[in-house]
Amino acid sequence: MTRLEDVGQADGWRCWLCDEAVDPDMSVNDDRGPSVDSMTSRSKGKATVFGTERLAHRGCNTRKGAIAPVVAWHKDLFVVDPAPIVTSVERLARKRGSEAMGRCPTEADAVAAAEWLVDRVGRLAPGLHVESRIQAGGGQYVVVLTS
Ligand SMILES: [Zn+2]
Repeated sequence: MTRLEDVGQADGWRCWLCDEAVDPDMSVNDDRGPSVDSMTSRSKGKATVFGTERLAHRGCNTRKGAIAPVVAWHKDLFVVDPAPIVTSVERLARKRGSEAMGRCPTEADAVAAAEWLVDRVGRLAPGLHVESRIQAGGGQYVVVLTS
């Protein structure tokens, strides 16, 4: 098996950046084709790799460039002031703690966002165990992730 096949199988042939399926048979030169990526973050000009190698579409990997990847929130969620997912997950991976991820207008929205986040972070950082809780106050519901 090649390294790409190993990484692809470990990630279930799903792009860790956009969370969509990757076709293992597509050309590696195609934008929707598979590529191997690594999770790096930049702080004070220093790049840090954390986690293992991950599967990404070539296009997602290329657009990411040298900066931290932008992992999108699901479009159907109603979240005000959504936190940058990768930055928050990096902090949770570095040291245990809590991160406020966004505010929701209703409890149902917050529950949906919390469930989606825990599932999404589980694929983004498989080694990191996070739990969600919802803080109600001031007529809104804040989704908090704790590692
Ligand atoms: Zn992708």
